[in-house]
Amino acid sequence: MNECLFCRIAAREVPADVVHESDHIVGFRDINPQAPTHILLITKEHVSSARDVDEDLGKVLGELFRTAAHLARAEGIDEGGWRLVTNVGPDAGQSVHHLHFHLLGGRQMDWPPG
Ligand code: 5GP
Ligand code: ZN
Repeated sequence: MNECLFCRIAAREVPADVVHESDHIVGFRDINPQAPTHILLITKEHVSSARDVDEDLGKVLGELFRTAAHLARAEGIDEGGWRLVTNVGPDAGQSVHHLHFHLLGGRQMDWPPG
């Protein structure tokens, strides 16, 4: 059995509040939201982090970015603005080692991030 949490969410073996699914990506609400909208966008294919992205993933990542923009509009956060962020490694605080992008919005956000 695959031990990766996000692979298991993508396979619907672990329940999640899924807001988007295609052949290549899944979007679901973060279990511990840090903003009024906090959606995680993942590739169905297991990739450990952004440092492991290769050219073959280009089309899927293009779809993922377009989906983020679509979801931002659907969530009503497009006008205010939103953030799309991926953490890589311990200094960035990556806790799940399956490539994912946080779509955050619905409040004013600080820069630089903590
Ligand atoms: P990271 O810290 O790796 O950038 O982000 C991992 C994110 O996954 C965290 O924001 C965390 O709240 C979220 N998360 C961890 N476990 C689960 C889970 O079982 N379900 C959902 N929906 N989110 C999770
Ligand atoms: Zn995985």
